[in-house]
Amino acid sequence: MKVKVYRRVVSYRISLLLIVVLTTLIAGNFSIANAQSRPEVRLVLQITIDGLRADLINRYENGFGKDGFRLLKEKGTYYTNAHYQYANTETIVGHTTLATGTFPSQHGMIGNVWFDREAGELAYNIEDPNSPIIPTRENVSKGEQVDPAQKKSRTQGRSPAVILAPTFGDGLAAYYGGRSKIFGVSGKDRSAVSMAGHVGKAFWYSTNSGDFVSSTYYYDAYPDWVTKWNARRQAEGYAGKSWSLLNDTSAYLLAAQDDRPYEVDLKGYGRVFPHPFGQANDKLFYTRILVSPVGDQLALDFSKSLITHEQLGQDKIPDYLSISFSGVDAVNHFFGPSSLENEDVVVQLDRILADLFAFIDKTIGLKHTLIVLSADHGMADLPEYMTELGYKAGRLDPDEIVAAANKSGQKFGVDEIVRFFYRPYLYLNDKKIAAAKIDRVKVEHAIADALTDFDGIALAVPTSRLSSQQANPLVAQVRRNHHVSRSGDIYIIQKPYWFLFDKGPVAAMHGSPWRYDTHVPIIFMGSGIQPKTVHRLVHPVDVAPTITALLGMTPPGSAQGLPLEEVLR
Ligand SMILES: [Zn+2]
Repeated sequence: MKVKVYRRVVSYRISLLLIVVLTTLIAGNFSIANAQSRPEVRLVLQITIDGLRADLINRYENGFGKDGFRLLKEKGTYYTNAHYQYANTETIVGHTTLATGTFPSQHGMIGNVWFDREAGELAYNIEDPNSPIIPTRENVSKGEQVDPAQKKSRTQGRSPAVILAPTFGDGLAAYYGGRSKIFGVSGKDRSAVSMAGHVGKAFWYSTNSGDFVSSTYYYDAYPDWVTKWNARRQAEGYAGKSWSLLNDTSAYLLAAQDDRPYEVDLKGYGRVFPHPFGQANDKLFYTRILVSPVGDQLALDFSKSLITHEQLGQDKIPDYLSISFSGVDAVNHFFGPSSLENEDVVVQLDRILADLFAFIDKTIGLKHTLIVLSADHGMADLPEYMTELGYKAGRLDPDEIVAAANKSGQKFGVDEIVRFFYRPYLYLNDKKIAAAKIDRVKVEHAIADALTDFDGIALAVPTSRLSSQQANPLVAQVRRNHHVSRSGDIYIIQKPYWFLFDKGPVAAMHGSPWRYDTHVPIIFMGSGIQPKTVHRLVHPVDVAPTITALLGMTPPGSAQGLPLEEVLR
């Protein structure tokens, strides 16, 4: 016991602290936690709110109760100025960065979707044909897919096989000899799988059935409690019902921002409250559930069942549960982050968090639970909304971007030099460039320069310019996003509030390197952490190394972030 305790210290404390520890040992107190009298951590609860731009928990504060976000902000160490440092602020990228403490250049998740050069087609981040989803019931009819990334998926299999860096959960399993229980739950597959890591187990909401599903990567068959939970068919219970405001309309800051012409109606879901879910046999029914507070409610209920049946946090070996709530992001995509819908989904999430904390306190004890809350990215306001306010913004047609790039290629005698474009990356046709025997670097630069002149594009960055010393911070963000085999040849950055796509199945988007997309909250609470609000600049890569430091563990293998000192004090 002595040896183990001693190792925990040296892994993250500098020699000065060693003196304190030795003094403590001499005094006959062998507990390392005594430096701060920290209660032991029995559960690490990592909460990720998909698309929760950092300012939203200030804007809606009047609608919050005492025991949700307010509890975190007042009792936890609250970082108000946390920013992602890479360019492509998307869901899988943010979650994997939180889980691994490193950048997409290392963990390989460069976007929700990238072009697989070998296969010659798009790849969806966590798809894995070798790990099919385990059916939960017979004859599930396929729902209509509206998630633009999921739509690109070629197979129904899911696993973390393509995540190239170890996660916090992977390290926790190693440290405790496989005795920690490690789980990831989410409304979205990619948010559950990335956080569960390579050795944990993941469950996510299915927009086909309303069930929480998993794949053969994790299980041969569902545990009994999962089968029983799904048999209750809670999502189906919302058939014929609607999403209504929690409070009276007058209580909302954005009461006047319900009916806006640029919001997207999910085929009958409407632009104004109440939003009817439709009947259970409607192909969009289970998706609409996710585009409301109900999906988060179901994730909460499923997580409670998991905590109970898997007996999380019941002994001295810390367990890990990641819950990623998807409702805020889904609502943002269809209605925008400055909609009444956004305000209500965040206010209702506040109640869901309060419920979760009360449950954790009852079953494990909040003082034995290390709670870490953050988000995977922020969200941009709609170009149409910004234009209405007087800021000029717009949407770029991807076909026009490709046409402009091809036109530059023709100057080098190559027709249709673009092999593929999927935002933000442009992939060039290697074979044609080789056959034409032209200088690849010159072509890349010519195309990038032509695109940078394009209205709505801030900067196009060719791979060959990533290594050059440039003062432009955008280039550094693109470099951290660059994976040598997955990234494209030219990274296209839109101007602020511009979108790299026409109005399609969704209205609003994230994914830019601008501050509204990089800004997320980071809050640590419980386990002796001091109430404090910190305004210095910190980064989501610091989250995993901070958790490991609190537990006395080595950071995840590829981690580049640093422990946040205010949490450790
Ligand atoms: Zn997201």
